[in-house]
Amino acid sequence: MSKKNTTAQKKAEFCPVAKKCGGCQLQNLTYPEQLSYKQSKVIRLLGKFCHVNEIIGMENPYNYRNKVQAAFGMTRGGKIISGVYQSKSHRIVCIDECRLEDKKADEIIVTIRSMMKHYRMIPYNEDTGVGFLRHVLVKRGFTSGQVMVVLVTGTPMFPGKNAFVKELLKKHPEITTIIQNINREHTSLVLGNTEKVLYGKGTIEDTLCGCVFRISAKSFYQINPIQTEKLYSKAIEFAELTGNETVIDAYCGIGTIGIIAAKAAKDVIAVEVNKDAVFDAKNNAKRNDTQNIKFYCDDAGKFMTKMAANGETADVVFMDPPRAGSDEAFLSSVVTLNPKKIVYVSCNPETQERDLKYLIKNGYKVRKIQPVDMFPHTNHVETVVLLSQRKADTHIDIKLDLSELDVTAAETKATYKVKKDTECRSVPRKKKMQ
Ligand code: SAH
Repeated sequence: MSKKNTTAQKKAEFCPVAKKCGGCQLQNLTYPEQLSYKQSKVIRLLGKFCHVNEIIGMENPYNYRNKVQAAFGMTRGGKIISGVYQSKSHRIVCIDECRLEDKKADEIIVTIRSMMKHYRMIPYNEDTGVGFLRHVLVKRGFTSGQVMVVLVTGTPMFPGKNAFVKELLKKHPEITTIIQNINREHTSLVLGNTEKVLYGKGTIEDTLCGCVFRISAKSFYQINPIQTEKLYSKAIEFAELTGNETVIDAYCGIGTIGIIAAKAAKDVIAVEVNKDAVFDAKNNAKRNDTQNIKFYCDDAGKFMTKMAANGETADVVFMDPPRAGSDEAFLSSVVTLNPKKIVYVSCNPETQERDLKYLIKNGYKVRKIQPVDMFPHTNHVETVVLLSQRKADTHIDIKLDLSELDVTAAETKATYKVKKDTECRSVPRKKKMQ
């Protein structure tokens, strides 16, 4: 059997619509192979800056997506279908379940699809602008078990709404809130601007690293809660907060990293451009009784430029920009603010490499790199990078094995160890010379 056939067969075994959907780019690899592929990718891009720690993978890398979205359409024969858009097209691939998605969320979407005929709910046609249901979005709180269902409709009118909601709740009593989101625009964006809460509070909650977060339909929330806890814990661990620091949480979303960090810092300043996310973030701070955090709704680059111009300072900057990475306005202001440490969380090591080069050129040094597999079976990889000021570098980083404290042996191994284990304990230069 040729290699190509083996790959095709593996894909078909993994998922019957693998080829059409295109969402799981690495499904022809076993999970350990996927992890080593991602590890190599990070080493290729960032390994020149510092030793790369071993990627943190998942124990059970399936059904991890706690946010599931389905598009609705109709076949030429008049059959209602729901699923994902075929890669690089706007044709819907009908799916009932996906190995990455939360099982309950998939079940709810199939139930809604099966109820549509009875309630005369016609799928929205993107070309003609005619029809009612465009998308269904389901979000599930991993710890809380709370479930949000968002019905994205092309028109505000919802005939039979009450009966529909009642029946859906009867079929899925685990649903805690139902929202109608109205999107009348000719757009590829899923959500529109208007929302009507049809049942429950209109938000759900979830717990991460001991803090409770409120999630609304529109705000960003990491989609893999198990790995998010590991990612955030690494970021906080890298910052080594003592309780005396002024911390910045840039690109803060609904305030997750900042609120968790606030427990171990003096105060936190958080900035985010999306106003819905800032609204949630403020509520989250209240919900967790976090009083030493302030949120600002602004472009992170502009905000940091203002901070730098006002002569403000910070001890630690957490930054978690979108895939495009940060910008020079932001990075140059970070340099002016002169934090001792920068913890850079990224979902795209390519743009992170570019930004790290800028920070390195301007006085920082990469100390630790930790990849985390947030999206098994896809080719995405998340990384947490710790940088600190180069000028504070009165020591070099080596790993000291006490059993090797025979001076001659340690010296012969020094060059290799220094290069390889730069993330390890710091040993003052003086001591090393002894
Ligand atoms: N740290 C958060 C969010 C990370 S996602 C978490 O872990 O959940 C990146 C966030 O950056 C998004 O919330 C997005 O709205 C925000 N963002 C994108 N561009 C921005 C900009 N120019 N200024 C500030 N925030 C921005």
